[in-house]
Amino acid sequence: MSDTIERVKCLIIGSGPAGYTAAIYAARANMNPVLYQGTQPGGQLTTTNEVENFPGYPDGVTGPEMMMQLQAQAQRFDADVRDGWITKVDFSGSIHKVWVNDTKEIQCDTVIISTGASAKYLGLDSEQKYLKLGGGVSACAVCDGFFYRNQEVVIVGAGDSACEEAHYLSKLCKKVTMIVRRDVFRASKIMAARVKNTENIEILFNTETDEVLGDGQVVTGVRVFNNKTGEKHEIPVTGFFVAIGHKPNTDIFKGFLDLDETGYIINTPGTSKTNIEGVFVSGDAADHVYRQAVTAAGTGCMAALDAERYLAAKDSTFEVSTSTYN
Ligand SMILES: Cc1cc2nc3c(=O)[nH]c(=O)nc-3n(C[C@H](O)[C@H](O)[C@H](O)COP(=O)(O)OP(=O)(O)OC[C@H]3O[C@@H](n4cnc5c(N)ncnc54)[C@H](O)[C@@H]3O)c2cc1C
Repeated sequence: MSDTIERVKCLIIGSGPAGYTAAIYAARANMNPVLYQGTQPGGQLTTTNEVENFPGYPDGVTGPEMMMQLQAQAQRFDADVRDGWITKVDFSGSIHKVWVNDTKEIQCDTVIISTGASAKYLGLDSEQKYLKLGGGVSACAVCDGFFYRNQEVVIVGAGDSACEEAHYLSKLCKKVTMIVRRDVFRASKIMAARVKNTENIEILFNTETDEVLGDGQVVTGVRVFNNKTGEKHEIPVTGFFVAIGHKPNTDIFKGFLDLDETGYIINTPGTSKTNIEGVFVSGDAADHVYRQAVTAAGTGCMAALDAERYLAAKDSTFEVSTSTYN
């Protein structure tokens, strides 16, 4: 049951690079944005120590520090950043309704969805241990491959993304061992051929991970087993990459928004528009291709500009702000 009903011009769901960038633009355009951070304030980047590829940081930056700066930048323009989890939405009417923590109802002229996507992991204790320590487990070759230059790594996965990431790593690393559970790839023939034809990629079919090995701080190897013979062996590596897919955080939008088969929100190409007027999407929630902080920030900007233009077209008293461009 709602205790109060609040009306907002622009509601932003999520506090990763997409959400905060949308908040910066929306706040500077007098849209008085309200942003709900969710259970992971700062988003996925708060789980990494080194971000070296976001423009503007020549010496790199830690993920948590970068996200605190983005939050401060949004708040400098009076974006209203709040704790809270959006548990339900109703996009069936002209006013979009959103519920915070199942209690507070908010009625919104525009909604910007920036809820991201979560990488899937195998779930092994040893994998999670070294992931949390930042000691050699990663779900993003483009983000972290650079740290394993001239080293040997393992990558788990059999789809197109896994093949693409293995190929990316092969250009940086001395050797890449690819662990494939079945006796065939799930990837398209062309992607599978690309890894098969790469000299420093070794593919182990019918193979699964038994344990990620380490010295208590960093990964030193992986123990794998053949799921046909049960035979186990250890591979000495410094990096363990997992490429078994992502889950977009979009369950609450099912039934209102068009989603693809994995759950990514489908936007009108070249815009942040969804199938519902006044509802926009940015960041990894709609991006199964790039999944980078800078692309999330870019689409956050697009969503705020699209929302601003939508409001201006709907209400002639709301002027598109020139401050957006100042
Ligand atoms: C370990 C790791 C390292 C990475 N390193 C790099 C790197 O070096 N460079 C790079 O460019 N990219 C990197 N990435 C990828 C990058 O983090 C993502 O592409 C980026 O964070 C996506 O931003 P986003 O704003 O779309 O979503 P996210 O950062 O995923 O943020 C989603 C936000 O939505 C909130 N949320 C979700 N559901 C709800 C809800 N129902 N209600 C309210 N809030 C909700 C969450 O609390 C969170 O704040 C890395 C990712 C990981 C996991």
